[in-house]
Amino acid sequence: MKKKTKKALEQDDPLCCCEYVDRHGGRSHMAACCCDCEDLDDACDRWMKREPQKPDSLSRVSAVVSDRLRVPWISGAKQVELSLIPPLILLPVLLHIAALHYLLGIVVLTALPVIVLWYYYFTHRKKGRTLFFLSLALFSLFYMYYLFLTEVVPQGDISYLQVGVVTIGVALTITALIHTKRGPGYVRPHPSDTHSTVTYHTPPPDIDSTYHNGSRHQVVLTNHMSPPEQEAESGADPGGSLQKDTVKKNWCPVCRVVKPLRAGHCRICGVCVLRLDHHCVWINSCVGQANHRSFLLTLLLFLSTSVYGINLVLRSVCPTQSILTALFYCPDVYSQYSSALCFTCAWYSSIVTGGLLHLLVLQLINVSYNVTEREARIALREKTGRSLYWGFVIDTGVYSRGFRGNWTEFLTMSAALETPTIKPADLV
Ligand SMILES: [Zn+2]
Ligand SMILES: [Zn+2]
Repeated sequence: MKKKTKKALEQDDPLCCCEYVDRHGGRSHMAACCCDCEDLDDACDRWMKREPQKPDSLSRVSAVVSDRLRVPWISGAKQVELSLIPPLILLPVLLHIAALHYLLGIVVLTALPVIVLWYYYFTHRKKGRTLFFLSLALFSLFYMYYLFLTEVVPQGDISYLQVGVVTIGVALTITALIHTKRGPGYVRPHPSDTHSTVTYHTPPPDIDSTYHNGSRHQVVLTNHMSPPEQEAESGADPGGSLQKDTVKKNWCPVCRVVKPLRAGHCRICGVCVLRLDHHCVWINSCVGQANHRSFLLTLLLFLSTSVYGINLVLRSVCPTQSILTALFYCPDVYSQYSSALCFTCAWYSSIVTGGLLHLLVLQLINVSYNVTEREARIALREKTGRSLYWGFVIDTGVYSRGFRGNWTEFLTMSAALETPTIKPADLV
């Protein structure tokens, strides 16, 4: 209904770059951002009179603010996601405070990861989408690069070649990230199947045809009706009870598809993803069959660039010490604000690099055992996998074909589902 109103509005009289259709479907202008704010007026009024606030007043005010936070755009002002903004302000402010004194540095660089982790668990529990982490990741990368160019390079210890290597590293990381963001590979109903009353099925794990004789095929079930509805329609079939159980187990009531083997439903994105690994808040997207390789490549490029950049910065601000010693002991670095800021940024980058290195190692181990993050979590919960090296490795043993076979499969797997070998009609 709202969409119709918006379309009708745009067709009757196109929006100028500063106009937009607000959340109530009315035409509004960016200049009127402080007008007609009944929710905010009401909240202020109650606060002044010391009356209790309405239970939803805070969420209504925040909805109004986020609806009016816009930037001019050709076809009408675009809404800016509120969660994008805190990292843009907090990161430079906190890093500049941390550079004032080493004690402030310790406090800020300890508090920052704690706050980010707390916010991660807070949003993860609510299964809400937020651009905070993507904004923090991207802004950290650009801000570190900006400080490298404006604070480290002018000190004269960095050659043009080294600046070029860092620049290429940043550019390649962004390119790999853009590729990763193109999508994890979704389970979509096939157009020809959506009008069918017949259901496709995925093979049960014990008769897993995906790996039968080394040949690989996957099957997607799509239908308008859920398995219980189909059961009621088709009547009882004692021979197909195993298939029906599998279908029921793999049926996604949200996407209304039967998930292929290893696919999973992401509750944050609200879609089923092929060979779902995990939902990564740092890229605000799922990691699945289509983008898992580019995700690992992004991590690898980022880590290489970051380690190289930290190395250059520490060599510049603390030339008398070895790199590892310089990170922990760099005399007189706080005597100059510029070198203190570079040192603080080297520490911030080291913390981020350490976290991502841990993630990369876990990912490489998982690929070596042919286990996805989701499968490892399920195996841990249901106690069906082998826990090795103090729980660092979870081996489900279901899909593993040896180290070489697993890596070959990972590096050669197609981005989308392979052509199903069983047609829906075969199951009529
Ligand atoms: Zn789903
Ligand atoms: Zn997701």
